Amino acid sequence: MTRQETLAALMQQEPLDLLVIGGGATGCGIALDAALRGLKVAMVEKNDLAEGTSSRSTKLVHGGVRYLEKAVKHLDRRQYALVREGLRERGILLKNAPHLSTPLPFVIPLYRWIDIPLVFSGLKLYDLLAGKLGIGHSRFLSRARCLERFAMIKARGLKGGILYYDGQFNDARMAVALAISAREHGALVANHLEVTALARENGRVAGARLCDRLSGSQWTLRARGVINATGPFGDRVRQMDDPEAAPIITASSGIHIVLDKRFAPPETALMIPRTEDGRVLFVIPWQGHALIGTTDDPAEITEHPRATDKEIEYLLRHVREYFDISPGRDDIRATWSGLRPLVGDPGAVDSSNLLRDHLISMSATGLLTIVGGKWTSYRKMAEDVVDQAIKGFDIHALRPCQTHRTPVAGGSAFHPEADQQLARNYGLAADVALNLHRSYGDRASTVAELATRGLGRRLDPAHPWIEAQVLYAVREEMAQHAIDVLARRLPLALVDTAATLRAAPRVIGLMRGELGWDEARCVLELDLVSQRLNIAL
Ligand SMILES: Cc1cc2nc3c(=O)[nH]c(=O)nc-3n(C[C@H](O)[C@H](O)[C@H](O)COP(=O)(O)OP(=O)(O)OC[C@H]3O[C@@H](n4cnc5c(N)ncnc54)[C@H](O)[C@@H]3O)c2cc1C
Repeated sequence: MTRQETLAALMQQEPLDLLVIGGGATGCGIALDAALRGLKVAMVEKNDLAEGTSSRSTKLVHGGVRYLEKAVKHLDRRQYALVREGLRERGILLKNAPHLSTPLPFVIPLYRWIDIPLVFSGLKLYDLLAGKLGIGHSRFLSRARCLERFAMIKARGLKGGILYYDGQFNDARMAVALAISAREHGALVANHLEVTALARENGRVAGARLCDRLSGSQWTLRARGVINATGPFGDRVRQMDDPEAAPIITASSGIHIVLDKRFAPPETALMIPRTEDGRVLFVIPWQGHALIGTTDDPAEITEHPRATDKEIEYLLRHVREYFDISPGRDDIRATWSGLRPLVGDPGAVDSSNLLRDHLISMSATGLLTIVGGKWTSYRKMAEDVVDQAIKGFDIHALRPCQTHRTPVAGGSAFHPEADQQLARNYGLAADVALNLHRSYGDRASTVAELATRGLGRRLDPAHPWIEAQVLYAVREEMAQHAIDVLARRLPLALVDTAATLRAAPRVIGLMRGELGWDEARCVLELDLVSQRLNIAL
C-alpha cells in the first residue's frame, strides 16, 4: 500500500476499532498485536518511525541486571518477577527478530575480591531465571584472561571479571520491521502524520484530528478506542483529553557517543554496573565501532534533544576513568540523545500496573495511555494494553494475542549463515552482503536484486550501506525524508556523522528520482539532514 492509499483509507468514514498515537517501540508493537488479533487498527507517527526515544537506546535486549541487583539486595519478589519477564521477552525478541538481534557477551571487570562471588552468583541467577530461553552461561574470567582478551580494561587493582550474556539489536530497524509487519497484517500505518486534537462523541474520546505534515491536509479519524503511546509526549496527549490533567511524566536524557573502531572491544561488551555516581557505563561493539553510554540527567521534553558538551565530556571522562583508553573529541564519530519518560506521579494512574516498569491508565473519557517500560518489553506492553483496550472499549478481537509466536518482517525464513550465499549469488562484497542479510533477513535478496541493477555502489567507501537500500527504504519502508533513510533505515547517521554529510547528496538524488522532488525540495532535504546532524554533534 502506498502512502497515498494509506491516507485515503484513513480518511474513510467508517470508524476503526483502534487508533494508536505514536510510532515508537510501544506504538509499533501495539499496532502489530492488534492487527494480528483481527482488529481494525491505525497507527500514526508525527515524525518518522522510531524517530523519538526508540532509535536512541543503548540497543540492548536485556532482562535487567540492575533490577536483579535490587531483587537480591532487598529480597524483592516483584523485582524478580520483572527480571524473569524481561528475560522471557529478551528470548522472544531474539527468536522473532533473528536478523535484527543477536546474543552478545558482556564482561564486568571487578576490583574487589568480595564482589566476585556476589556478582557471579547474581549472574548465575540471571541465567537460571532465563530458563529455556537462556542464551549463554555466565562464567568467571581470571585477571590474566580479562587482560588478554580486553587490553582496554583498567589493569590497576583488577581481580578478575564475570562474563555473562544479553542481547543486542538494531532498534530503529526493529521498529520499522514491526510497522511493516503490522501493515502486512492489515493495520493502517503512516509516519509524518500528527494527532493535533482528540475527537469526542457523547463525551467519550472517539478519534482524533490528524494533520499530514508533508501536505498540510487535515481531517478527523473516528475510532472506538484511542491509545496514547507517545512516550515522553504522553502528557501532551493526555492534556488534549483533559487540559487540567496533572502531568505524570518527567524526562531524563541519556546520551551515547560512537567512537572510532580502534576503541571497540572484540565482539564482547564491557559493563561497569555502578560508577561512583551510581550509573551504568557500557562500551559495546556496534556496527564496527564502539558505542559508549550513557548519562541520566533531568531534561526538557523536546522532539530532537541534543547531546550537550557537558554530557559528552562526562562520558569521555568516565571512559578514561574506568577503562584504559583515552578517547578525545576527535575520536567521536557520532553522538545522540534520547529521553526516558519517567512516570512522576504513579498515584494518578492505574496502580495495578505498578508491578511492572510500565504504566497503563484509562482516563474518565476513555483515553488509554501507556508509558514507561523498556524496548525489550515492547511486546508484553503491547499485549497488556491491547487486552485493556478490548475490555475498556468493548471491541471484539477474532483471536488472542499472537505476537509471542510471530516473527517480524524478514525473520520467518532467516538463516544465520545465508550472507555468504547472498554474496555469491549477487556478486556482493562480504561486508555488504552481511549488512543486507542482517538488515532485511529473508528479504535481503530483494535489495540485492536492486543492487545488481546499477544500484550496488556504496554510499560511503568506509561503510557497507549501498544505493539499493535507499530505493528499498522509499518503496517498502515508508521513508519520506533523506534523514529517515540516513538515520533509521540505515543507521549511518548514528555511526558516522561526517560520512552521512558526504552521502546525503547522493541519497537525496536517488529519492528525487523516485519521488519526483523539485530543486527546492532537495535543498530543504539537505538542510534537514544537516539540522538533524547538528543534534548529534
Ligand atoms: C538513553 C536510553 C537508553 C535506552 N536503552 C535501552 C536498551 O538498551 N534496551 C531497552 O530495552 N530499552 C532501552 N531504553 C528504553 C527504550 O528506548 C524506551 O523504553 C522505548 O524506546 C520507548 O518507546 P516509546 O514508543 O514508548 O516512545 P518513543 O520512542 O519516544 O515513541 C513515541 C512516539 O510518539 C510520537 N508522537 C508524540 N506525539 C505525537 C502526536 N501528537 N501524534 C503522533 N505521534 C506522536 C513521537 O514522535 C515518538 O516517535 C533506553 C532509553 C533511553 C532514553
